[in-house]
Amino acid sequence: MTVLAAPPGLARVLDQLQHVRRMGDSWRGKCPGPCDDHHAALSIREGSGGRVLLYCFKGCQLWEIVCALGLKVSDLFTRSKRPRRVPAPPLRAETEYELARAMVLREEESLLRMRNRWTPLWALSDAVREHSKLVQRYRQLAASCGGEKEGTWFCLAEAAHHQTLAHLAAHEADQLLTEVRRGHERQAQAS
Ligand SMILES: [Zn+2]
Repeated sequence: MTVLAAPPGLARVLDQLQHVRRMGDSWRGKCPGPCDDHHAALSIREGSGGRVLLYCFKGCQLWEIVCALGLKVSDLFTRSKRPRRVPAPPLRAETEYELARAMVLREEESLLRMRNRWTPLWALSDAVREHSKLVQRYRQLAASCGGEKEGTWFCLAEAAHHQTLAHLAAHEADQLLTEVRRGHERQAQAS
């Protein structure tokens, strides 16, 4: 189906899906992944910077959904001129959720700082691990929020975002390793 007024990356994903309906600022559609969805288990929304956030309520992994769509994980990112991330509103740690959120934000900041220090391959493998940890953390947070609340949605969107970043980092690490191996092979042939 064609969805008008959706940003380019999002429109590309929505075009591939069946039974798409709009729900506020997000969409629901039939999940193309291995969960054998007959309803609308896939949630689609646009994250900051124009990236596309996908979440299957029946448990499909991001890569399974992306493969079923005939896309690559990198297709979920569109080059957008808008600011990358809207600053989080100031936290008043009044609830358990807010405290947990503050904790996760601190982890994210230290992850960013560490990435700059390490050599590329170490940074990438650590990024995979740290992003995967954040996926788990956000899913736990979403479960503890419960129901169709704003906090739940936020956590699921962040989990999807970090899952995408983990996949991208893993892919980058693979490419880097291949390059290193080719370099060794060339050296061995030359000597
Ligand atoms: Zn699914």
